[in-house]
Amino acid sequence: MAYRKRNKKKLVSASNRKTCMDLAPWIKSVSNHMWWSCSSSKGDPKELLRRWKSILHHICGVHRWEEGGMEYKCYHTELTADEQRRKRLLAKDSPAYKAFYEAVMNARLLKDLEQMALFKHTGELEVFHNVLLKYCPKRLHFEYASMQARTMLAVMDHNENHNTQREQAKTASGLQRHDVVFQRQSKQWTARPVYKETTQTFRNNMMDAVIQRRLDPSVKYKDPLSHMKVPLLAANIARVSKPNKEDVIAGHTSRFTATD
Ligand SMILES: [Zn+2]
Repeated sequence: MAYRKRNKKKLVSASNRKTCMDLAPWIKSVSNHMWWSCSSSKGDPKELLRRWKSILHHICGVHRWEEGGMEYKCYHTELTADEQRRKRLLAKDSPAYKAFYEAVMNARLLKDLEQMALFKHTGELEVFHNVLLKYCPKRLHFEYASMQARTMLAVMDHNENHNTQREQAKTASGLQRHDVVFQRQSKQWTARPVYKETTQTFRNNMMDAVIQRRLDPSVKYKDPLSHMKVPLLAANIARVSKPNKEDVIAGHTSRFTATD
């Protein structure tokens, strides 16, 4: 999320100013708060913005407030007096709060966040984007019709393979397979599940459906060429699945012996 980084950068540079030093301990939680606002508002842009802006109250130590005649409160559990005391609260008239307010209410950011509400699962979106790149490589140019068809193929591929549908691969001894990867952001090693290879069954299903439709006598075509018979498969296209190599060799040898 580019705007999340942008927002963080803004806060970091503001907190470097002497008058805004109190901002520094908040930066990490503000970044987390943005992520929480996006992922918890169930695709509702108004709710997302309301949740995001609530940090303006929270940072001053106000956890219940009124807005347009409605009472709102933070989603976190009640803070103990000790927790409340340990937080570096900002005074509403401080330069730090002013800089914070500007970063939170940045018009471009609010617009981006509103857009973000449309995507409930950003992780999934990134996964789809990678599939899309497989069908529409960025370096190549496609005509509109081709681009449309390629995007559809990417959607079908994604639907067939996205993680909730894919089984996790297993080791020879039957354990679930993981890759241990280093996360640059958290600087920690984590285990990532390894999924079974992707499948593209949808392609065969689609070709079958096309042929079935073509053979359906109740479907009439405007194109006169459509009266032509469905062409037979070329002789070099196998219509039975490939047999085992050893069986073929054995079969050839025995026939050779029989006719000899
Ligand atoms: Zn709060």
